[in-house]
Amino acid sequence: MPISPRPGSPAPLNPSARVLLGPGPSEVSPRVLSAMGMPLLGHLDPEFVALMDETQDLLRYAFRTENRLTMAVSGTGSAGMEAVVVNLIEPGDKMLVCVNGVFGGRMVDVALRAGAEVTAIERPYGEVFDPQEVRDAIRKVGPKVVGIVHAETSTGAWQPVEEIARSAHEAGAMIAIDTVTSLGGVPVEIDGWAIDAVYSGTQKCLSCPPGLAPVSFSPRAVESIHARKSKIQSWYLDMTMISRYWGSDRFYHHTAPISMNYALREALALVVEEGLEARWQRHMTNHLALKAGLGAMGISYITTEGHQLPQLNCVRIPEGIDDLTVRKRLLKDWGIEIGGGLGSLKGQAWRIGLMGHGSRRVNVTLFLAALETCLRELSAAIAPGAALAAAAQAYAANDATVQA
Ligand SMILES: *Cc1c(COP(=O)(O)O)cnc(C)c1O
Repeated sequence: MPISPRPGSPAPLNPSARVLLGPGPSEVSPRVLSAMGMPLLGHLDPEFVALMDETQDLLRYAFRTENRLTMAVSGTGSAGMEAVVVNLIEPGDKMLVCVNGVFGGRMVDVALRAGAEVTAIERPYGEVFDPQEVRDAIRKVGPKVVGIVHAETSTGAWQPVEEIARSAHEAGAMIAIDTVTSLGGVPVEIDGWAIDAVYSGTQKCLSCPPGLAPVSFSPRAVESIHARKSKIQSWYLDMTMISRYWGSDRFYHHTAPISMNYALREALALVVEEGLEARWQRHMTNHLALKAGLGAMGISYITTEGHQLPQLNCVRIPEGIDDLTVRKRLLKDWGIEIGGGLGSLKGQAWRIGLMGHGSRRVNVTLFLAALETCLRELSAAIAPGAALAAAAQAYAANDATVQA
């Protein structure tokens, strides 16, 4: 058997420094990056075990919950989605999923693979669900679990979930929510809203590299997992086994990704240091300035007014402007990454993320200057400097002191 020749000596890895203003991964604080370079501990080392306990407490703070079963699943946000669904759902169970974007659609796929009898209700991209229509669907279907995305990253829609959680409980159902993009960016109140199961990701508003999925299960959800008749479909994501490692048994299940856990610990420490409320405020202030600047260039949001996520700005590409031309120029000339449209918004939308560490005034200003330049080069009729002036005015009107 011929084998491949030995590759020429590869140069040391040297990725470009990008300004990550897309739908994730977001910019990561240098403190988090250096945590990843620290010496490895064994996954059962008492120091690592103490770090896991600390991370659980930090996650409870971020999720605003006292749930005992709160931890980070090894894998990206989608692994968190899968962990929630496969643990709560047994084959034949009914699940109602609200779909108004790509991630709601993904939840349907995951639930079907877990053997759920799925009913999906839909809203057009950019819109949110009215609690009344979800209540009607819950009454009609009688599901075991209702699944809904709190922050739909494909459309920028910010879905209120508290009333929907109440409707689910009135009908005896559990509610599971996707907070991959909301956690650390806008209020997430797991106990306050009585959420039964929640998952998130590290690389959006927590500003940590991708690789872990924070999850939390209410006592009722834990009870339902223990009352299952059938085995959990996924060995890797079986919470009953994983919780024996994260709990006091320290039973080996799989080797924890040590460096990723360092990073998450450090990212959460930064969240605590800043304070959740201040962090939400910072995301909102920068969003309002970005929105003012975009408005001055005649760029409008796809997402319904009043339901626009501050950390994910989904806007309409101006008439006559080519999506890829602009995004390539932003990357090549300015080092800025933004996202394109997903699903039915492909070619029609830009998704501008101001997530976590990336949500800063320098980034808003740089991006508006870059976009204005690109659009003017492509001969769009835009008054020079109008976007930056509008953003500056918004900062002056809102609390600019949190920007530093
Ligand atoms: C990013 C995202 C996911 C998937 O997370 P991955 O880390 O890409 O696996 C799921 N739901 C929402 C709302 C997201 O934004």
